[in-house]
Amino acid sequence: MACGLQIKDEDSGYNKNLFCIPKHYEEDIERVYIPHGLILDRTERLARDIMQDMGSHHIVALCVLKGGYKFFADLLDHIKALNQNGDKSVPITVDFVRIKSHCNDSPTEKISIAGEELSALNGKNVLVVEDIIETGRTMKALLSKLKDNEPKMIKVVSLLIKMTNRSSGYRPDYIGFEIPDKFVVGYALDYNEYFRDLNHICILKEKAKEKYKI
Ligand code: 5GP
Repeated sequence: MACGLQIKDEDSGYNKNLFCIPKHYEEDIERVYIPHGLILDRTERLARDIMQDMGSHHIVALCVLKGGYKFFADLLDHIKALNQNGDKSVPITVDFVRIKSHCNDSPTEKISIAGEELSALNGKNVLVVEDIIETGRTMKALLSKLKDNEPKMIKVVSLLIKMTNRSSGYRPDYIGFEIPDKFVVGYALDYNEYFRDLNHICILKEKAKEKYKI
Protein backbone atom coordinates (compact mmCIF):
# COMPACT_ATOMS: atom_id res chain seq x y z
CA MET A 1 0.00 0.00 0.00
CA ALA A 2 1.21 3.50 -0.85
CA CYS A 3 2.41 5.64 1.98
CA GLY A 4 3.61 9.22 2.12
CA LEU A 5 6.02 11.18 4.24
CA GLN A 6 4.31 11.21 7.63
CA ILE A 7 3.89 14.39 9.61
CA LYS A 8 2.94 13.48 13.17
CA ASP A 9 0.40 15.21 15.43
CA GLU A 10 3.16 16.55 17.64
CA ASP A 11 5.03 18.09 14.66
CA SER A 12 4.00 21.71 14.87
CA GLY A 13 5.90 22.94 11.79
CA TYR A 14 8.27 25.90 11.65
CA ASN A 15 8.43 29.48 12.89
CA LYS A 16 7.05 31.57 9.99
CA ASN A 17 9.57 34.35 10.71
CA LEU A 18 12.35 32.06 9.47
CA PHE A 19 10.73 31.90 5.99
CA CYS A 20 9.65 34.37 3.31
CA ILE A 21 5.90 34.98 3.54
CA PRO A 22 4.08 37.56 1.38
CA LYS A 23 3.55 40.73 3.45
CA HIS A 24 -0.22 40.58 2.91
CA TYR A 25 -0.42 37.22 4.71
CA GLU A 26 2.12 37.78 7.51
CA GLU A 27 -0.54 38.36 10.16
CA ASP A 28 -2.68 35.40 9.03
CA ILE A 29 -0.18 32.53 9.22
CA GLU A 30 0.36 30.61 12.46
CA ARG A 31 3.18 28.26 11.36
CA VAL A 32 4.87 27.05 8.19
CA TYR A 33 3.84 23.40 8.06
CA ILE A 34 5.54 22.02 4.91
CA PRO A 35 8.20 24.27 3.36
CA HIS A 36 8.14 24.70 -0.42
CA GLY A 37 11.54 23.04 -0.88
CA LEU A 38 10.39 19.86 0.86
CA ILE A 39 7.24 19.77 -1.30
CA LEU A 40 9.40 19.92 -4.45
CA ASP A 41 11.82 17.24 -3.22
CA ARG A 42 8.99 14.84 -2.39
CA THR A 43 7.31 15.63 -5.75
CA GLU A 44 10.50 14.71 -7.60
CA ARG A 45 10.42 11.24 -6.06
CA LEU A 46 6.68 10.84 -6.76
CA ALA A 47 7.38 11.60 -10.42
CA ARG A 48 9.97 8.82 -10.51
CA ASP A 49 7.62 6.30 -8.86
CA ILE A 50 4.77 7.21 -11.23
CA MET A 51 6.97 6.89 -14.33
CA GLN A 52 8.26 3.51 -13.17
CA ASP A 53 4.66 2.23 -12.93
CA MET A 54 2.95 4.08 -15.79
CA GLY A 55 5.81 5.09 -18.03
CA SER A 56 5.32 2.61 -20.85
CA HIS A 57 2.24 4.19 -22.46
CA HIS A 58 0.87 7.64 -23.23
CA ILE A 59 -0.37 9.25 -19.97
CA VAL A 60 -3.26 11.71 -19.70
CA ALA A 61 -2.53 13.81 -16.61
CA LEU A 62 -5.82 15.14 -15.21
CA CYS A 63 -5.43 18.20 -12.98
CA VAL A 64 -8.07 18.71 -10.31
CA LEU A 65 -8.58 22.49 -10.11
CA LYS A 66 -8.11 24.77 -8.48
CA GLY A 67 -6.11 23.41 -5.55
CA GLY A 68 -4.09 20.94 -7.62
CA TYR A 69 -2.56 23.39 -10.11
CA LYS A 70 0.80 24.00 -8.38
CA PHE A 71 1.39 20.34 -7.59
CA PHE A 72 0.31 19.44 -11.14
CA ALA A 73 2.74 21.91 -12.72
CA ASP A 74 5.69 20.84 -10.55
CA LEU A 75 4.94 17.11 -10.89
CA LEU A 76 4.77 17.45 -14.68
CA ASP A 77 8.05 19.37 -14.72
CA HIS A 78 9.72 16.45 -12.93
CA ILE A 79 8.06 13.91 -15.24
CA LYS A 80 9.26 15.94 -18.25
CA ALA A 81 12.80 15.91 -16.85
CA LEU A 82 12.64 12.10 -16.59
CA ASN A 83 11.30 11.92 -20.16
CA GLN A 84 14.14 14.15 -21.35
CA ASN A 85 16.95 12.33 -19.62
CA GLY A 86 15.85 8.70 -19.46
CA ASP A 87 16.42 5.79 -21.87
CA LYS A 88 12.70 5.71 -22.63
CA SER A 89 10.00 8.39 -22.73
CA VAL A 90 6.23 8.59 -23.13
CA PRO A 91 3.97 11.39 -24.36
CA ILE A 92 2.04 13.22 -21.66
CA THR A 93 -1.14 15.13 -22.50
CA VAL A 94 -3.12 17.20 -20.03
CA ASP A 95 -6.75 17.68 -19.09
CA PHE A 96 -8.48 19.70 -16.39
CA VAL A 97 -11.48 19.20 -14.18
CA ARG A 98 -12.79 21.71 -11.67
CA ILE A 99 -14.29 20.57 -8.37
CA LYS A 100 -15.75 22.60 -5.54
CA SER A 101 -16.44 20.78 -2.29
CA HIS A 102 -15.57 23.28 0.49
CA CYS A 103 -16.72 26.67 1.76
CA ASN A 104 -14.72 28.31 4.58
CA ASP A 105 -13.00 25.26 6.09
CA SER A 106 -16.07 22.99 5.94
CA PRO A 107 -17.38 20.62 3.26
CA THR A 108 -20.35 21.76 1.14
CA GLU A 109 -23.35 19.48 0.86
CA LYS A 110 -23.06 19.14 -2.92
CA ILE A 111 -19.83 18.45 -4.83
CA SER A 112 -19.75 20.29 -8.15
CA ILE A 113 -17.64 18.78 -10.95
CA ALA A 114 -17.09 20.74 -14.16
CA GLY A 115 -14.55 20.32 -16.90
CA GLU A 116 -13.68 19.43 -20.43
CA GLU A 117 -15.40 16.64 -22.29
CA LEU A 118 -14.21 13.63 -20.28
CA SER A 119 -15.07 11.19 -23.08
CA ALA A 120 -11.56 11.97 -24.41
CA LEU A 121 -10.29 9.72 -21.60
CA ASN A 122 -11.82 6.61 -23.16
CA GLY A 123 -9.16 3.87 -23.46
CA LYS A 124 -6.40 6.09 -21.97
CA ASN A 125 -4.05 5.70 -19.00
CA VAL A 126 -5.20 8.49 -16.72
CA LEU A 127 -3.24 10.01 -13.84
CA VAL A 128 -5.51 12.09 -11.59
CA VAL A 129 -3.53 14.81 -9.78
CA GLU A 130 -5.21 16.08 -6.60
CA ASP A 131 -4.10 18.44 -3.81
CA ILE A 132 -5.60 16.85 -0.71
CA ILE A 133 -7.81 13.96 0.33
CA GLU A 134 -9.70 14.30 3.58
CA THR A 135 -12.76 12.01 3.75
CA GLY A 136 -12.24 10.70 0.19
CA ARG A 137 -15.76 11.85 -0.77
CA THR A 138 -14.57 14.20 -3.54
CA MET A 139 -12.23 11.63 -5.11
CA LYS A 140 -14.86 8.90 -5.00
CA ALA A 141 -17.33 11.19 -6.81
CA LEU A 142 -14.72 12.06 -9.44
CA LEU A 143 -13.60 8.46 -9.96
CA SER A 144 -17.15 7.29 -10.52
CA LYS A 145 -17.61 10.01 -13.16
CA LEU A 146 -14.30 9.12 -14.83
CA LYS A 147 -15.10 5.40 -14.91
CA ASP A 148 -18.25 6.17 -16.93
CA ASN A 149 -15.84 7.18 -19.72
CA GLU A 150 -14.03 3.82 -19.61
CA PRO A 151 -10.37 4.78 -19.40
CA LYS A 152 -7.91 1.87 -19.70
CA MET A 153 -6.31 2.64 -16.33
CA ILE A 154 -6.81 5.25 -13.61
CA LYS A 155 -4.14 6.07 -11.02
CA VAL A 156 -4.49 8.82 -8.43
CA VAL A 157 -1.71 10.90 -6.91
CA SER A 158 -2.51 13.24 -4.03
CA LEU A 159 0.04 15.63 -2.55
CA LEU A 160 -1.59 15.36 0.87
CA ILE A 161 -3.80 12.91 2.70
CA LYS A 162 -5.34 13.88 6.02
CA MET A 163 -5.33 11.43 8.90
CA THR A 164 -8.87 11.85 10.18
CA ASN A 165 -11.53 9.65 11.69
CA ARG A 166 -13.91 11.13 9.08
CA SER A 167 -11.98 9.24 6.36
CA SER A 168 -13.91 6.70 4.29
CA GLY A 169 -10.73 4.62 4.16
CA TYR A 170 -10.00 5.66 0.54
CA ARG A 171 -6.26 5.89 -0.22
CA PRO A 172 -4.77 7.07 -3.52
CA ASP A 173 -2.09 5.16 -5.43
CA TYR A 174 0.62 7.74 -4.64
CA ILE A 175 0.81 10.04 -1.61
CA GLY A 176 3.12 12.98 -0.98
CA PHE A 177 2.55 13.63 2.72
CA GLU A 178 0.26 12.20 5.39
CA ILE A 179 -0.79 15.04 7.67
CA PRO A 180 -2.74 15.37 10.94
CA ASP A 181 -6.33 16.60 10.98
CA LYS A 182 -5.60 20.32 10.52
CA PHE A 183 -6.81 22.78 7.90
CA VAL A 184 -3.88 23.79 5.68
CA VAL A 185 -3.41 26.46 3.00
CA GLY A 186 -0.75 27.50 0.50
CA TYR A 187 0.86 25.96 -2.59
CA ALA A 188 -2.53 26.50 -4.36
CA LEU A 189 -4.63 25.23 -1.44
CA ASP A 190 -7.03 28.00 -0.47
CA TYR A 191 -9.28 29.35 2.21
CA ASN A 192 -12.15 30.96 0.26
CA GLU A 193 -9.75 31.60 -2.68
CA TYR A 194 -7.03 33.26 -0.53
CA PHE A 195 -3.56 31.80 0.17
CA ARG A 196 -3.12 30.06 -3.20
CA ASP A 197 -0.37 32.68 -3.77
CA LEU A 198 1.74 31.36 -0.89
CA ASN A 199 4.60 28.93 -1.60
CA HIS A 200 4.68 26.98 1.65
CA ILE A 201 1.89 24.85 3.07
CA CYS A 202 0.86 26.65 6.25
CA ILE A 203 -1.53 26.60 9.19
CA LEU A 204 -3.83 29.60 9.58
CA LYS A 205 -4.52 31.60 12.70
CA GLU A 206 -8.12 31.34 13.90
CA LYS A 207 -8.56 35.09 13.43
CA ALA A 208 -7.57 34.72 9.76
CA LYS A 209 -10.43 32.24 9.28
CA GLU A 210 -12.77 34.92 10.63
CA LYS A 211 -11.17 37.62 8.46
CA TYR A 212 -11.68 35.73 5.18
CA LYS A 213 -14.98 34.03 6.09
CA ILE A 214 -17.90 34.28 3.62
P1 5GP B 1 -12.73 15.19 0.83
O1 5GP B 1 -13.82 15.11 -0.16
O2 5GP B 1 -11.67 14.13 0.64
O3 5GP B 1 -13.25 15.20 2.24
O4 5GP B 1 -12.05 16.61 0.68
C1 5GP B 1 -11.22 16.90 -0.39
C2 5GP B 1 -11.32 18.34 -0.82
O5 5GP B 1 -11.57 19.19 0.29
C3 5GP B 1 -10.02 18.82 -1.41
O6 5GP B 1 -10.00 18.68 -2.80
C4 5GP B 1 -9.96 20.27 -0.97
O7 5GP B 1 -10.62 21.07 -1.91
C5 5GP B 1 -10.75 20.32 0.31
N1 5GP B 1 -9.92 20.24 1.54
C6 5GP B 1 -9.91 19.24 2.44
N2 5GP B 1 -9.05 19.52 3.44
C7 5GP B 1 -8.50 20.72 3.16
C8 5GP B 1 -7.50 21.54 3.83
O8 5GP B 1 -6.94 21.23 4.88
N3 5GP B 1 -7.20 22.71 3.20
C9 5GP B 1 -7.77 23.11 2.05
N4 5GP B 1 -7.39 24.28 1.56
N5 5GP B 1 -8.70 22.36 1.39
C10 5GP B 1 -9.04 21.18 1.95
